[in-house]
Amino acid sequence: MKYDVIIIGGGASGLSCALTLASSRGRGWQWAENRNYLLFDVGRSDLNKAYLKNVPGLDPIPGKELLIKIKKQIQQWGGVETLEEEVRSVSRENGVYSVKTALGKIFSADYIVLAVGFHCFDIEGLELEVKENAKSPKPGRVMVKHKDFEALPNLFVVGTLAGLSSHFTSCAGSGVEVACEILSRMAGKRIVIHDVPEES
Ligand SMILES: Cc1cc2nc3c(=O)[nH]c(=O)nc-3n(C[C@H](O)[C@H](O)[C@H](O)COP(=O)(O)OP(=O)(O)OC[C@H]3O[C@@H](n4cnc5c(N)ncnc54)[C@H](O)[C@@H]3O)c2cc1C
Repeated sequence: MKYDVIIIGGGASGLSCALTLASSRGRGWQWAENRNYLLFDVGRSDLNKAYLKNVPGLDPIPGKELLIKIKKQIQQWGGVETLEEEVRSVSRENGVYSVKTALGKIFSADYIVLAVGFHCFDIEGLELEVKENAKSPKPGRVMVKHKDFEALPNLFVVGTLAGLSSHFTSCAGSGVEVACEILSRMAGKRIVIHDVPEES
């Protein structure tokens, strides 16, 4: 099955990327309709261990609850399929990416977003430069080298894997940034997604 975007990792950065992509639907933008997005996750987000008291504008919240809230927001927009499967490899041929899961299933996409966190990077098949994550206070964390979040053509890294500080807002922001870049490439013009209060 071919998707427009495959996001690998459903934590702070991957879910935020999916939410912004999904929120481009239903706005009368022809280029945005009928896009399909796929998100892989294996439920190991660092947010599961966190109790967040410093997310701007949010009352203190367990990270687990925040994950559920963001997933509900994504569902409300629609268009994002989620699979609880581990991605093992990604390869590229003729400009199209192929993703293979631990169950041996294969999916393809025009764009890939790697959002698997900074604990390790063991996805095979790509020529990426994986290096020590200098912003982690703990040793042994990794990041993938990129320029403006793009590591290979139409393949992006976000969150802690992109070398950002391990904070929800930084990581979520990178997911949003990359979603806007992908939407802009699809549209052929700069895109941001803003809503306003409904008239009463
Ligand atoms: C104990 C603790 C407390 C924290 N407290 C705070 C806090 O108070 N405030 C704050 O702002 N931040 C806090 N954080 C940091 C915050 O949780 C992280 O910065 C954030 O979760 C990182 O987002 P990420 O998207 O880079 O990675 P993650 O949220 O870790 O998401 C990575 C996702 O990738 C998935 N994945 C990995 N490999 C694969 C694969 N091969 N296939 C499919 N899926 C895969 C995992 O299942 C995971 O869901 C805390 C973290 C910890 C550990």
